[in-house]
Amino acid sequence: MKKSISIVGGGPAALMTAAFLDSSKFDITIYEKNKSVGRKFLVAGDGGFNLTHSESIEEMIERYTPVDFLKDALTDFSNEDLGVWLREIDIPTIIGSSNKVYPEEGIKPIEVLNAILKKLEENNVTIKSEHNWTGWKKDELIFNDSVNVKSDYTIFALGGGSWKVTGSDGDWSEQFDKKKIETLPFLPSNCAYGVDWPKGFIARNAGKPLKNISMSCFGNTQKGEVVITEFGLEGNAIYALSPQIQEILSKKGDATVLIDLKPTLDMEVLLNKMYKARVPKTTDILRKYVKLGPSKLDLLKLNTTRDEFMDINSVAKKVKALPVTLTSAASLDEAISSTGGIALPELSENYELNKLPNSFCIGEMSDWNAPTGGYLLQACFSMGVKLAKHLNSK
Ligand SMILES: Cc1cc2nc3c(=O)[nH]c(=O)nc-3n(C[C@H](O)[C@H](O)[C@H](O)COP(=O)(O)OP(=O)(O)OC[C@H]3O[C@@H](n4cnc5c(N)ncnc54)[C@H](O)[C@@H]3O)c2cc1C
Repeated sequence: MKKSISIVGGGPAALMTAAFLDSSKFDITIYEKNKSVGRKFLVAGDGGFNLTHSESIEEMIERYTPVDFLKDALTDFSNEDLGVWLREIDIPTIIGSSNKVYPEEGIKPIEVLNAILKKLEENNVTIKSEHNWTGWKKDELIFNDSVNVKSDYTIFALGGGSWKVTGSDGDWSEQFDKKKIETLPFLPSNCAYGVDWPKGFIARNAGKPLKNISMSCFGNTQKGEVVITEFGLEGNAIYALSPQIQEILSKKGDATVLIDLKPTLDMEVLLNKMYKARVPKTTDILRKYVKLGPSKLDLLKLNTTRDEFMDINSVAKKVKALPVTLTSAASLDEAISSTGGIALPELSENYELNKLPNSFCIGEMSDWNAPTGGYLLQACFSMGVKLAKHLNSK
């Protein structure tokens, strides 16, 4: 007789697991509290929709915190494997800006979701929507406070705590607390950070991008861009430093990042250009010879004393490492992802809950972190495939 698997939550981690589970061995049912599955997946599609990233899997693995937690899953089902699988379900991908991987032009997010759902249909997966998991009664799962479900295996894929409107509200954590399974508070990750901009500066620069920069915090450096907003700074360069920034913010109340406004020029080349410049004013040297745009120049002036600005060595140092103080993180609900949720020591290498055998937790609901740009979805997909293979081998 077939064994039964209940998958609770219907995001990308759940869908991928269901696609890879062996339906000749298992009756597979996904329970989702919304009317339809994959709402956050579709929200992700509204923006960049980076399905994964194209860098080597070894480089990719290094982007995750903690590195070891996801290493096996990512190696076993890599970005390349994902690309092959997506092609098999008729979703060809392209490598776009910054080596992120997108569906080919013209393919809408809903078409990607539908292609995955078609695969689930072929795999005889049942989807029960409007089934809100509200806890356990003995060893049964309870949905909508009234429907009891008993299954051989339960896979929780309940998502993190950001963008509540998509259904991923983190309310589930109290049920795990009751079972003495440690959960950590959700914190925003991949989010904007607040800066106390002077009024004049923000009036001139709100909405302006700082392109081709790199940003460092606590020994970690990220290339990319940020946008100056009324609130502060947002964009891939700062999102990726979320673990370091959050750590310092929580300890100190503020955190300083260093912006390299010209990462393509090393200090020697930069100084050479500046000393050889044939104009007297520093502003003109920076504009014409170093090619700093108006917003970069404005930010540099904001964080440089007059004396520093007049001295070529001092101003060059600031071009390469401009300190900007962050005073807060955006709210959890506005963040692209969250940290917190199920504490990692609660899980075995196959994501099984040590205190609740035959129950597993995958996807963003446990306390790992990754930058946006395809890394989050790749991790959810890889965890799903790893768990499916583990269960198939039983
Ligand atoms: C604006 C935005 C843009 C993003 N862009 C990207 C991107 O370009 N690339 C990338 O890699 N990542 C991106 N992400 C992140 C990515 O979407 C998430 O990391 C991913 O969706 C997490 O998948 P998951 O399966 O773990 O959980 P989720 O997708 O959050 O799904 C969890 C599901 O569980 C359901 N659920 C919750 N509680 C219950 C309950 N009690 N009972 C039943 N069901 C429940 C929820 O309704 C939800 O459908 C983006 C996120 C946002 C918000």
